[in-house]
Amino acid sequence: MKKIAILGSTGSIGTQTLDVVRNNQDLQVVGIAAGKNVQKIEEQVREFHPKLAVLYDESAAEDLKARIRDTDTRVSAGMEGLLELAAMPEAEILVTAIVGMIGIRPTLAAIGAGKDIALANKETLVTAGHLIMPAAEKNGVRILPVDSEHSAIFQCLHGEDRRQVHKLLITASGGPFRGWKTEDLAGVRPEDALKHPTWSMGRKITIDSATLVNKGLEVMEARWLFDVPLDRIQVVVQPQSIIHSMVEFEDGAVMAQLGAPDMRLPIQYALYYPHRRYLPGERLDFTRLHSIEIDQPDMETFRGLPLAIRAAREGGSMPTVFNAANEEAVALFLNYKIGFLDIYRLIEASMDAHHCIEMPDLEQILAVEAEVRGRIRRDYA
Ligand code: NDP
Repeated sequence: MKKIAILGSTGSIGTQTLDVVRNNQDLQVVGIAAGKNVQKIEEQVREFHPKLAVLYDESAAEDLKARIRDTDTRVSAGMEGLLELAAMPEAEILVTAIVGMIGIRPTLAAIGAGKDIALANKETLVTAGHLIMPAAEKNGVRILPVDSEHSAIFQCLHGEDRRQVHKLLITASGGPFRGWKTEDLAGVRPEDALKHPTWSMGRKITIDSATLVNKGLEVMEARWLFDVPLDRIQVVVQPQSIIHSMVEFEDGAVMAQLGAPDMRLPIQYALYYPHRRYLPGERLDFTRLHSIEIDQPDMETFRGLPLAIRAAREGGSMPTVFNAANEEAVALFLNYKIGFLDIYRLIEASMDAHHCIEMPDLEQILAVEAEVRGRIRRDYA
């Protein structure tokens, strides 16, 4: 029996992780955590009987406590609760399916407690990769990618000598506005940006996909996961999301992982690595697949990618600024407070205003985050 805890159990990745659990009798959920969705977490408690359920929101946690009084599940709240879940002795692996850099502290706590990490929460690695990767190595913990692109690369690297990697090729769908120009994007509304062409995901990552910020975060994530320099990571557009990513080796051989767009595959691969299991669902049908389209990303229009590359090159605390500004900007966009193109403007202005700290420790990362968020919130209060 493999015992797992899930940080962000009520979201898109969290619920698909629970679907994988439903299909596999040898997985047991010992802990779940979410933000404030009482109803969904109550349903999950009743179905999966975890030992611990956490809601970050204190009053939602009180409500949950009252609702599940008849069960054996204990309830915790706040950051203390997330840290407790991350380090709970019963769990072997933590699925980090929370959204945003709030995942940093629980991820570090889980690593400190010797848990493997099935990592979906890319913002954590982007902003604190220099703390997380060494901590994982020190504690003998595996960081197993759940992001489909990184899982694809991880699968391509299986059994290979990593020193022979020449280049990583990260694929992008191009999002719902592929082919559009800057002037077309000015009037885009949240409901337009939330229509992703190939993947069904949480709201924040769906907007990040439309701006190409997500691809920028993935480039930074790949650098930490696979220890490959930035100039050897290339983004290519593959609109059907069939090629999930590729690795080019020194001899010119290119390995790719293909499949139907279904996040349960990378989730299951991370949970059972290095073994594969049967996964019910849609399969690629090569008799109906006439072509696989490949294109270049439009970096002039979709500035999320070049801004991310700039943040990655400047390094230190700059990826935190990039990420925190983006998290705030996406929330403002989703609340109709700013336009689509303002997301780029807020990220760039925040980066321009920041004096980079070379090797920020956890407190410095959190202080930079608070400063960036505070400035944007004051401007839009
Ligand atoms: P969702 O918005 O669907 O879910 C987010 C989850 O995090 C929810 O369970 C939410 O709880 C929880 N959460 C939010 N804030 C807090 C908090 N303060 N404390 C505890 N829990 C919190 O996001 P996704 O599942 O789409 O994405 C999760 C992560 O996975 C992101 O980092 C994303 O980039 C990454 N990812 C997602 C993919 C996808 O297909 N969705 C693909 C690849 C990566 P509540 O419901 O209560 O708000």
